[in-house]
Amino acid sequence: MLQVKNVKKSYTTGEFTQIALNGVNINFRENEFVAILGQSGSGKTTLLNIIGGLDQYDSGDLIINGKSTTNFKDADWDAYRNNSVGFVFQSYNLITHLSILDNVEMGMTLSGVSADEKKQRAVEVLERVGLTEHLHKKPNQLSGGQMQRVAIARALANDPDIILADEPTGALDTTTSEQIMDLIKEIADDKLVIMVTHNPELAEQYADRIVNFRDGHVIHDSNPYLEAEESSHYDLKKTSMSFFTALKLSGKNIATKKWRTGLTAFAASIGIIGIALILSLSNGFQKQIDSFQSDALAEFPIIVSQQAVNMDEESLNELRADGPLHKKEFVKSNKVFLYNPEENSVTHKNDLNQKYLDYLNAIDSDWVRSIGYTRVVGMNMLRKVGNEVTPVSVSVGMTRSGGNQNVSSGAGMTSMNGVGLSSYPAAFKDEKETYLEKNYDVLAGSYPKSNTDMVLVVDSKNRIDENTMKNLGFSIDNVETINFNDIVGTELKLIGNNQYFEKTNMGNFIPKNNYAEMYDNAEMSLTISAVVRQKEDVQVAMLGQGIAYSDTLVEDIIAKEENSEIVKAQKESDMNVMTMEKLDADSKQSLLAYLGGDSAPMMVYIYPKDFETKDKIVDYLDAYNDKKDNKNKVVYTDLASTVTEMTGGIMDGITLVLVAFASISLVVSLIMVGIITYISVLERTKEIGVLRALGARKKDITRVFNAETLIIGTCSGLLGITIAYALTFPVNQIIENMTGLANVAQLNPIHALLLVAISIILTLIGGSIPAKMAAKKDPVEALRSE
Ligand code: ADP
Ligand code: MG
Repeated sequence: MLQVKNVKKSYTTGEFTQIALNGVNINFRENEFVAILGQSGSGKTTLLNIIGGLDQYDSGDLIINGKSTTNFKDADWDAYRNNSVGFVFQSYNLITHLSILDNVEMGMTLSGVSADEKKQRAVEVLERVGLTEHLHKKPNQLSGGQMQRVAIARALANDPDIILADEPTGALDTTTSEQIMDLIKEIADDKLVIMVTHNPELAEQYADRIVNFRDGHVIHDSNPYLEAEESSHYDLKKTSMSFFTALKLSGKNIATKKWRTGLTAFAASIGIIGIALILSLSNGFQKQIDSFQSDALAEFPIIVSQQAVNMDEESLNELRADGPLHKKEFVKSNKVFLYNPEENSVTHKNDLNQKYLDYLNAIDSDWVRSIGYTRVVGMNMLRKVGNEVTPVSVSVGMTRSGGNQNVSSGAGMTSMNGVGLSSYPAAFKDEKETYLEKNYDVLAGSYPKSNTDMVLVVDSKNRIDENTMKNLGFSIDNVETINFNDIVGTELKLIGNNQYFEKTNMGNFIPKNNYAEMYDNAEMSLTISAVVRQKEDVQVAMLGQGIAYSDTLVEDIIAKEENSEIVKAQKESDMNVMTMEKLDADSKQSLLAYLGGDSAPMMVYIYPKDFETKDKIVDYLDAYNDKKDNKNKVVYTDLASTVTEMTGGIMDGITLVLVAFASISLVVSLIMVGIITYISVLERTKEIGVLRALGARKKDITRVFNAETLIIGTCSGLLGITIAYALTFPVNQIIENMTGLANVAQLNPIHALLLVAISIILTLIGGSIPAKMAAKKDPVEALRSE
């Protein structure tokens, strides 16, 4: 079944060429026990290795079952070793970190035998060699004879046709040798056994046929086999190691050197720890910066007002001095500068016409958090207490930029002491929370559900001007407090201009005084649905004390009143249509606005999302003024304009630099893992040889070492993020003690996952070169190594 035809093999070391086999011709029967005798150095091992497919011949041919091997590929040799040949070595060559059972199973593992069958067959052969009791021991817990029995069991496990034994008793005492020889003899009953020995007595005693070897060729054969032709073909089952097997193999190997692996993983994890900490810190700082930014921008919206003040830097700075972002500019000079305040703050009249409002509405909704409008409309409201109906005197204006801006209407309805009216922005585009929900707490009642729901705004101490309450029809005589419950639910009637004013014979308009009748016929009723107060963490109080309602209510009122008689008359006349006094242009517009005849807002507040979008908004507003003459320009006030822009840019930069530094330690880790893997390859050289002898492919060897680095990489990654996570607690404590900022360092889970992945990838890269080196190792040399 096996023919060696004129096989030659020589080794070249440096300039010296050693001929190991010098034209060997020998045929073997399917079933015999052949002993090869010869002095050491005569080429016996070389021949055995070539027969077993571990080593390649230089010339000649090896014919297996009638098939020439000259065209064998690596995969064919691997399969041949795995399926057809079992090796038994003088030095046993067991894998020391695997149990006896695992050692015996390895060949079957490589050829993909199922776990159950593997176990069953391994136990069977171990029983056959008399080792049932030692299944779970490690090789170093056995005697030499026992180890050789394990090796024999391993050779038998895959049920090969050929057993190749290289001085199997060379390291054993006489008694043990005889026991092993008995075992081999028994095996030879149904297999071809080729045994190399330099002990002629043992050969005589046990072998069927003795071949004498000298200087690389056969000098005598006791029972030559001349018939050559045989052609039973056999299919070789290809071998392959699953990645799981590789993992298990390396896992068990690593388990034998826990300390080293642990330290390596720890050292390799330092880079990961550094990067993870830096990322968590920058994460936290970025969050702080973001919240600082939005606070700042909430405090300093861009304001477009009908009466804009072209403020100079100095006045702007004074305004900003209230905020946390104040930064004074100092001048270097030895002179005193004189200035005229009036010249420095010139009022500019902005025309907030529909075209401009449309322009504002077309602003990119990604840039703005909200846009708030304040319109000024005096409302004709009536309140009924008991049976008495009285008008509610109002004072219209805005309180945000300090003090109410009162409109003198002369209607008798508006007074400095009237109920403060203000409107809040309607929900902007796709905002989830309304302006009120975001900035005001409900103390009693509930947030408005419709346009006709209003709220009563109190200050931080729940105070409200007594005149406000008086005008709303509450008794204030000898009263210090009013229960929320008495306020919530208060109903007011809104009376349209046409109903409220009548034209006298003289052509002017005066308010009527049949309040009870108007009350009963009112078209719209308004309810105070809640008492609200600015939230504690909100900096801006846009709404003044008094009554606040949605801007959409104002829009509705204006839409209706624009066509009322009094408004139409006022539009035509340069006199106050109520008092018949002469009006200047500004007063006329104020009065019209008060009467609901002017839809232009008094002020627009634009709240940008962040500093970056604020710049875009400012550019957008500037673009409107492009090529317009001064009169038609719309001037805005950007209070936050000189606030230091603590954008993420700086943070990103710092993070990048730090990460770059920490990455250096990652590179160090990479090199270290490369070295460790290289050392491991050196240590496991013998194992590589054994695995190759058992039919492992080069690829499988690479796998074994990739599995090892994978384990190290995973450990170091996990260790790294665990340590980094644990470190965030003391780091946060320190930062909190130093700056008062709590929980700054926060490890983002995505970063953690990424870092584990990076650790794995880097160690795999670091280990890949040694793993490739391992695969390239010559199996014969690998087996020879100690
Ligand atoms: P034996 O097993 O009969 O003692 P070997 O087959 O091991 O002999 O070696 C035969 C000859 O080939 C010896 O002279 C040995 O030095 C040489 N040889 C074997 N393997 C190598 C090798 N890898 N490199 C160089 N010389 C080798
Ligand atoms: Mg030898």
